[in-house]
Amino acid sequence: MDHSEIAETVRQRLADVDSRISAACRRAGRRRDEVTLVAVTKTVSAEVASILPELGVVDLGESRPQELWRMAASLPAGVRWHLVGHLQRNKVEKTLPLTHLIHSADSVRLLHAINDQAASLARTAQVLLEVNMSREANKTGFAPDEVSDLKEALSSLSRVRITGLMTIAALEDDPQRCRQTFSRLRELLDRLKRAWHALGEPLVHLSMGMSNDFEVAVEEGATIVRIGTALFEGLGDLEPK
Ligand SMILES: *Cc1c(COP(=O)(O)O)cnc(C)c1O
Repeated sequence: MDHSEIAETVRQRLADVDSRISAACRRAGRRRDEVTLVAVTKTVSAEVASILPELGVVDLGESRPQELWRMAASLPAGVRWHLVGHLQRNKVEKTLPLTHLIHSADSVRLLHAINDQAASLARTAQVLLEVNMSREANKTGFAPDEVSDLKEALSSLSRVRITGLMTIAALEDDPQRCRQTFSRLRELLDRLKRAWHALGEPLVHLSMGMSNDFEVAVEEGATIVRIGTALFEGLGDLEPK
């Protein structure tokens, strides 16, 4: 495929994903503008990724910090980068200035590193806490009951704005089986909204839903869906990382 064929394929797939998000919003009585699509570009080149901002999608995501650095250097400055995968503390310094939202804060030590780096940049950092709802041992993220206990630890982090929660559901053949993971994350966010009232940050985001399960996630309250395969399958020159 040449570039214009790839661009046309991406345009059609984006329209399809968008109409599926809209339909899920209608089923749940939500507005389409309550849900932000983050296009996860980890399997495609910068050239293919650049089709998204041309189509008006400026929220792009990468799962590995080094790839985010590389892509951010090649794409227009108007792109808002989302880090959706694990962040090592020694990569915070380089990642933070490039990143609009870190979805994957998974330890207090990492939050401290982000706080220190934000302070030295004289800014704040917007982050989501990653929660391992399915409790799979191979996944990063806080355990659900651990999150409620973080209030003390977080209150000293004046440069970190925690605006919500993120989870990765288990891969299921039937996405309906992810529903409980998503509804539990929403319930956890609701509890934190009450319990962390005093922290002063509006807890608004639920980053949940990927290609396999985003419609169920939207029905359960996702404000951010992270979509790779449904947009880019077969268009990459790289293996999924
Ligand atoms: C790769 C990735 C996605 C996108 O997954 P698809 O199934 O390809 O849509 C979303 N979130 C995270 C954390 C990822 O690593």
